Amino acid sequence: KSKEVKILLEEEKVILIHASPIARPDSKKEGAVFVFHDITEIKKLENIRRNFVANVSHELRTPVCNIKGYAETLLEGGLDDKKNAEKFLKIIHASSNQLSKLIDDLLELAKIESDKIELNLKPCEIKNIIENVIRNLSKQAEDKKIKIKINIPYNFPKITADADCLNQIFLNLIDNAIKYNNDSGEIIINAEDKGSKIQINIKDTGIGIQEKDITHIFERFYRVDKARSRRLGGTGLGLSIVKHLAQAHSGEVLVSSVEGQGSVFSIIFFK
Ligand code: ADP
Repeated sequence: KSKEVKILLEEEKVILIHASPIARPDSKKEGAVFVFHDITEIKKLENIRRNFVANVSHELRTPVCNIKGYAETLLEGGLDDKKNAEKFLKIIHASSNQLSKLIDDLLELAKIESDKIELNLKPCEIKNIIENVIRNLSKQAEDKKIKIKINIPYNFPKITADADCLNQIFLNLIDNAIKYNNDSGEIIINAEDKGSKIQINIKDTGIGIQEKDITHIFERFYRVDKARSRRLGGTGLGLSIVKHLAQAHSGEVLVSSVEGQGSVFSIIFFK
């Protein structure tokens, strides 16, 4: 027989206890042997998995409901109303984009978390990578009239990293710096050579993040303002991808922020 019990220690632990009676040669029972297994970690992982599945389903529901609802409206005669039909199609288009972004982010996260990610480590020029990312985000920046400055000297030391991962890290961080910036805001990117490590800072003049949220923003699906993030095409997975990619390079990512003034995201690579 076995039974799971909870014991109140400083932190909650889940223990699985197996008990077996000790049988004497004269077949009289005398006492029992109890084996305690600490299964707290397994339970935690089960919980994380359950929450993850619930979160993913929840995130899928909104765009799928939009697509279904508006497609049905169009099929049921909405097509004749030219003006609204176009509006509905735009919603269907935006929702399918949101679905596809979510799937891409989930696959990326699954790949990194499975530890199967193979890093193609090579000396990388971060200035080039960042300039390339900014070119890809130029439309979003222009739409909000955001100026982006890069202060990285041309002879800045190269870092040994996987170029695709660096690209993804800077894409997510600079995309956020645009999304959560104010119109006509600024983004300043600089790099510091600190001897044993290299630090790259991405500073924006946007909405900032409150103290209470800062510790959570790297968690999967955590968003300060869900509706705003969704409206801006966010999935809530970008920063957890950044954190995992930095860790895969034995690096780290830090953030400091003042609500209403802006944030600085720093990524650190050890040489
Ligand atoms: P999302 O897809 O929602 O942008 P992220 O994982 O990239 O997801 O970021 C998580 C949350 O952290 C965002 O929803 C936002 O609330 C907050 N955040 C991220 N970057 C910034 C920033 N530069 N300024 C203010 N808030 C930010």
